[in-house]
Amino acid sequence: METESKKVVSFKSLTDSVGRYNLTDKTFLIPQMNRIGGHLLAATFRGFGIHAKVMETYQGLDLGMEYTSGKECYPCQITTGDILHFMEKEKEKLGGEFNPENYIYFMPEADGPCRFGMYNKYQRIVLDSFPQLDRVKIGALTTKDGYSLDGIIEEERVGDLRKSAYFSVVVADILDRLLWRIRPYEKEPGMTDDFIDRSMKAMEDTFETHGPNKDFDKILDKLEEIVNEGKTIIDPHIPPKPLIGIVGEIYLRTHVQANQNVIRVLERYGAEVVNASIAEWMNYTTYDRLRDARAGFRMNLKQIRPGRLKEHLKEIISFGGELLYEESRQKQVYKRVRSLIDLAEDHKVAHLEDILKEDDLYSFDAGTEACLSISGIVEYAREGYNGVVNVYPFTCMPSTITSAIAKPLMNKLGTPYLDTPYDSSFQPGREAAIRTFMYQAHQHFKRHGRKGH
Ligand code: SF4
Repeated sequence: METESKKVVSFKSLTDSVGRYNLTDKTFLIPQMNRIGGHLLAATFRGFGIHAKVMETYQGLDLGMEYTSGKECYPCQITTGDILHFMEKEKEKLGGEFNPENYIYFMPEADGPCRFGMYNKYQRIVLDSFPQLDRVKIGALTTKDGYSLDGIIEEERVGDLRKSAYFSVVVADILDRLLWRIRPYEKEPGMTDDFIDRSMKAMEDTFETHGPNKDFDKILDKLEEIVNEGKTIIDPHIPPKPLIGIVGEIYLRTHVQANQNVIRVLERYGAEVVNASIAEWMNYTTYDRLRDARAGFRMNLKQIRPGRLKEHLKEIISFGGELLYEESRQKQVYKRVRSLIDLAEDHKVAHLEDILKEDDLYSFDAGTEACLSISGIVEYAREGYNGVVNVYPFTCMPSTITSAIAKPLMNKLGTPYLDTPYDSSFQPGREAAIRTFMYQAHQHFKRHGRKGH
């Protein structure tokens, strides 16, 4: 790819070409973080008439490396590569018919305090430096308003899209957990991967058809069918294995190429694994907004500012309702699935905050994924998991904080713990570290048994 030399980057484009745009008649490009989640989300959008597409991932890593300085977070390098690679291929395919204005590239953001809020700004600058790509808009949903979808389709359908999209996130979590629950006990190698692949495709069709009417019962019926088929893959003669919990940075712990397939490696050394879910992060962002609104309300009550009080009250009702909806939907799906198979459940975010408060381990006021990771680690240990792995990008701020707090804590609790930071390099000692960790987990399992056994 050729850059336009001497091009002066206009910072105006950070506000003009990064934001929430109407997706009608556009191709909405979704980066692939967790495979199933990305595909179900795209299918849900397609059901609502949006031409959504999951981009291939990791094929453009060289481009990502070339157009970043090395100081950016690893997920930023991967996604930068993904969008550049996609555009390169699209230009080759369409030739003169390529029109950059047909695309909206999806890159959400968080409002700090770490660098996730900067990915789309940085990628804007990179795209602006290529001929034509300055006209590709970046669709940015933000945690500031709990990932509101206002304005991307007709107003009267936004609520339905939001609910169906959330449902797709929960169902994708379940399919992932089903994969990790079945694969260590499969009758023949490869059966689970093949089954999950087919199930994902069947679920895509289901979401495309029933998502727009919010016919969640039909989606749950299909899910039940899938779970029942999955159960037949389990060999009942294989005894339970040590149970390992994963926490960490959301992108790395769910992107299998980026984490060098850490779950499969753990399984190779005898583990059954449960990864933290994506819905947990969605619930956390809503919970955090609700927390902020409550704090604002209390402050303005003290200062007797009625105008601001009303605003915060409105936010409390809106985010409170949203959280209630999300947690009850999630509970409904898990209840149905757990009546068929023993999959790990998610905890309420309020419960996770209480865990941190008990021993004053960390504060939700400081924010970031460390809130979920630290409390998640404690919860895994208390529930009888045989080990915990923290998966994150090298130099990730929240995960480094997590590691600093979790290591001494896990020593005290006597639960094996492993940090696995990743960049794109293959560390020669990584596999040995995982093997040693799994030896400890087996010892823990022999001495204490495991959750549910
Ligand atoms: S969570 Fe970690 S990897 Fe993600 S933006 Fe923040 S510092 Fe970077």
